[in-house]
Amino acid sequence: MLGRDVSLTDIDAILVTHEHGDHSGGVFKLAKKMGIPIWCTPGTSRAISATDQSNLLNEIIGFSNFKVGALKITPYPVPHDALEPSQFTLSDSQFKLGVLTDAGAVTAHMFENLRDCDALVLEFNYDENLLLKSSYPTPLKKRIAGGFGHLSNTAAKDFLKKLVNPKLKFVLAAHLSETNNSEDLVKGLLSEILDEREIAYAIANQHHGSDWIEIS
Ligand SMILES: [Zn+2]
Ligand SMILES: [Zn+2]
Repeated sequence: MLGRDVSLTDIDAILVTHEHGDHSGGVFKLAKKMGIPIWCTPGTSRAISATDQSNLLNEIIGFSNFKVGALKITPYPVPHDALEPSQFTLSDSQFKLGVLTDAGAVTAHMFENLRDCDALVLEFNYDENLLLKSSYPTPLKKRIAGGFGHLSNTAAKDFLKKLVNPKLKFVLAAHLSETNNSEDLVKGLLSEILDEREIAYAIANQHHGSDWIEIS
């Protein structure tokens, strides 16, 4: 059991967004052991040397959508310092979930993909002041804050304001830096935007993820 009543045999597919270790580490070991199919772009599969795992690998060509069971999955490109990073939206006949982490900037295309979601997983990576003051080396600070790095709290908040729509019921803030951010800061920002609209929210933790969230 993986927790939250999920067992490894319940997993139908693994979507790999890009090759960075916090997103691809251990994926092939698990996929191979359990025979779980993997989906990623050709750039990502090259970067993680996945091409020799072709029996499990499904390459996403040209960010075209695909199905896993009843779910329609739509990949979309994001600016991030990886070979061919992709984020995803997932929808069934009723609801649409948008997932966005690891993006250095917001693009019009990202907005088009995420504007009509029922639920969002959205990166709030760092607080600008905490990053500035942190002990990270300057090149790393520049990478994180650059156009191919991560979304700051301010960038995520501004984007979330644009993504609020009458269908939106839940927002999960994700990919918070343990060094350069705090759950309290992010909670404050989410509350500013979402409380008055009665949209629920939570914060995903690097170690425990989040609880199951039911949308109705
Ligand atoms: Zn990354
Ligand atoms: Zn990451």
